[in-house]
Amino acid sequence: KITVLGSMNLDTTIRTERLPKPGETVHSKEMFTGGGGKGANQAIAAARNGGEVRFIGAVGKDTAGKTILELLEQDDINAQGIKELAHTRTGSAYVMVDDKGENSIIIHGGANLKISESHVSEVSQLITTSDFLIAQFETNLSSIEKAFEIAKQANVTTILNPAPAPKEISAKLIQLTDILVPNETELEMITGRKVTNQKELDNAAQVIHQMGVKGLIVTLGSKGAFYSFASVASGFVLAFKVDAKDTTAAGDTFIGALTAKLSVDMRNIEEAIHYGNKASSLTVQRYGAQPSIPYESECLKS
Ligand code: ADP
Repeated sequence: KITVLGSMNLDTTIRTERLPKPGETVHSKEMFTGGGGKGANQAIAAARNGGEVRFIGAVGKDTAGKTILELLEQDDINAQGIKELAHTRTGSAYVMVDDKGENSIIIHGGANLKISESHVSEVSQLITTSDFLIAQFETNLSSIEKAFEIAKQANVTTILNPAPAPKEISAKLIQLTDILVPNETELEMITGRKVTNQKELDNAAQVIHQMGVKGLIVTLGSKGAFYSFASVASGFVLAFKVDAKDTTAAGDTFIGALTAKLSVDMRNIEEAIHYGNKASSLTVQRYGAQPSIPYESECLKS
């Protein structure tokens, strides 16, 4: 069982020939809405790939909130840990994409930023009866620390995806983290070092292990992923060669699918990473966030 604590957004994507400059008005070619938010994306990726998933989060009492709850229900995600808050808007992202694939995004955190420690405590039983807890940085740090404390006391494996990249990392949270899953930029922010080659990755892994984190999995875009487990081994798992159209939710798919596989067999880390690479290689070939996340049946084909 997997609990995800995180953000849920309704994404509005607007395609334009070119992005407007400040003060300028441009016309849109196409506009659509869909589910997004790192937390919800990761939960959906885990659920579509065999995970039994519970979600802790918050929406406003508005139509966007209702839409998001329906989307989670379609993927059989347990919503007992989700609160509908009055006088707050559901999280939203406004994504402008131009013909070159360049984008500008504004996120309104809304209800996602109102998840409190007491909210997490109230639903602590979801965490303590799970095998894994996953969190990212689109919700308040204090709620994540609370959830990780509860998890560690109950021997639940904690997975932290430090995204978006933090300016500084909480020492308390790091100590409560079992597996850290950053991309290269996030790893650089946390270690304060460049990671452009294998030696630098090995060094960064040592820094992370010295901070008290046993497991590190770094996503490397089209190169795949690097892993280092203090007591086991380290290595690379190559990405699948595909024609990437839109990398939105690639990292989220990787984490959700990886955790779904770890929840079946925690020992086979390399195989779970390989599966995460496969799932996210399908995501990057499709447009949007949640609509692009594949199901297990698609990942097992070919
Ligand atoms: P993020 O989007 O969080 O920065 P990455 O870009 O590292 O994360 O991508 C996450 C995973 O998605 C990678 O580890 C890889 O498996 C897959 N992926 C991303 N981009 C590509 C690509 N161009 N081709 C194949 N796989 C990709």
